[in-house]
Amino acid sequence: MFLTISTTGTPERPATDLGFLLHKHPDRAQSFSTSHGTAQVLYPEASDERCTAALLLEVDPVALVRRGKGKGRGGAPDTALAQYVNDRPYAASSLLAVALSTVFRSALRGVCAARPERAASPLPLRIEIPAVPARGGAELVGKLFGPLGWASVEARPVALDERFPEWGDSRYVQLVLEGELRLADALRQLYVLLPVLDDAKHYWVAPDEVDKLLRAGEGWLADHPEQKLITSRYLARRWGLTREAMNRLELVRLAEADDTEVEALDNAVEAEAPADTGDEAGKPPSLAELRCAAILAALRDAGASTVLDLGCGQGRLVQALLKDARFTRIVGVDVSVRALTVAARRLKLDRMGERQAERVSLVQGALTYTDKRLTGYDAAVLSEVVEHVDPPRLPALEYAVFGAARPRTVVVTTPNAEYNVRWETLPAGQVRHSDHRFEWTRAEFHAWAGEVARRHGYGVTYTAVGDDDPEVGPPTQMAVFVEQARDEKDEKDKKEGKGR
Ligand code: SAH
Repeated sequence: MFLTISTTGTPERPATDLGFLLHKHPDRAQSFSTSHGTAQVLYPEASDERCTAALLLEVDPVALVRRGKGKGRGGAPDTALAQYVNDRPYAASSLLAVALSTVFRSALRGVCAARPERAASPLPLRIEIPAVPARGGAELVGKLFGPLGWASVEARPVALDERFPEWGDSRYVQLVLEGELRLADALRQLYVLLPVLDDAKHYWVAPDEVDKLLRAGEGWLADHPEQKLITSRYLARRWGLTREAMNRLELVRLAEADDTEVEALDNAVEAEAPADTGDEAGKPPSLAELRCAAILAALRDAGASTVLDLGCGQGRLVQALLKDARFTRIVGVDVSVRALTVAARRLKLDRMGERQAERVSLVQGALTYTDKRLTGYDAAVLSEVVEHVDPPRLPALEYAVFGAARPRTVVVTTPNAEYNVRWETLPAGQVRHSDHRFEWTRAEFHAWAGEVARRHGYGVTYTAVGDDDPEVGPPTQMAVFVEQARDEKDEKDKKEGKGR
């Protein structure tokens, strides 16, 4: 199995930069052992003008022949073996995809410390794979790669046997892609689409394949017209996983629409901080810090140990919760993959000790859908989230949180619109952030919260966060909901001496 990646360049932007981007030096042939054989990277040409890297994968031929024969005899001697054989351990394209992700791991992620600007920008690329097994043939190849920004997608069917043209074409095509793309994007497309074309994964499809697919599909899969075929084939037609992936891609689409807003958000939240809430230590706590402290206090008062941070954004509250050992389980949920990525980085999730790591997880989800992953927690926080939800979708969020997930305590914070006149930089009548769908006065917030509490059987109390202006109230308003039925039952149990 064989794949080449070529680029062109000039003395100022030499083609050999490809070596930096792939993290493989053009002057050396390098060999890597992957789980299925040996992968080699070598450069048939490497000049300023033109550079080609080749990835060669050698799979253990003995095993290949043996398995091939077993299959050729037809009939399944026993089910266990049949399954083994059907698993197709030698399926060309998924092996190549695995080799790509192993050998070019950093390139796939678009990481390149030496040439970051080259990694971030499109390059003239030509990618050639002499034999791609393609169920669906050249036509499907066109449909899969066509919408992805290539100037030319060429898939030439390979004859079954050149000596006997009447036998027709094999299921292999010769694939040549040409165009200006970011190298990481090109590699991630191949990583997903080669096994999709092959349509026979050599390894068992585990639930984390959905995560892998979404990671590799970032930036192109959510809008791909063949998304359903890609998803279902990639996940070996396991419908549950396929549906999960499609749902999550739908979320990505929704989130992409205002992802830039999310990015600006943390800064915006910081910028909101009033200058007059100073403390003697010098630096005044920002409104975001005050909010975090108020939420932590409410959770401690509620005696919560397991906490959902719904719409966790970039993970500020999750980080604060982790610092207090009484919170034994913390889950941050957000619709934005990008926000979660930033949160994971901020929390250093990948470098966390095992015990800490067991306490925390970040999951992607939309709060306007019920989600059984969110049941069974003591408390949920919606910090500065409701105002990001379109009013017609708000009842869905209410139901998902108060009706389905139903934690004992729910803490909600939201801006107080009345306070906006106090922000010096905020023109009258404007909301604080362009992604806010609305901002409530205290009366509006109380009306909403009171109604939610009544409908779902919660009691609600209100707290001011930040400077509580005698006229317009505080910058942030907070409501703490406590489930009533259980509360009353606790009281009753206490009276009867049952305890909890
Ligand atoms: N809780 C954080 C971030 C608030 S910003 C804080 O207090 O600083 C609002 C966050 O809610 C964003 O990260 C946004 O992506 C997320 N969000 C908005 N609508 C959502 C929805 N329907 N489902 C899940 N998350 C949503």
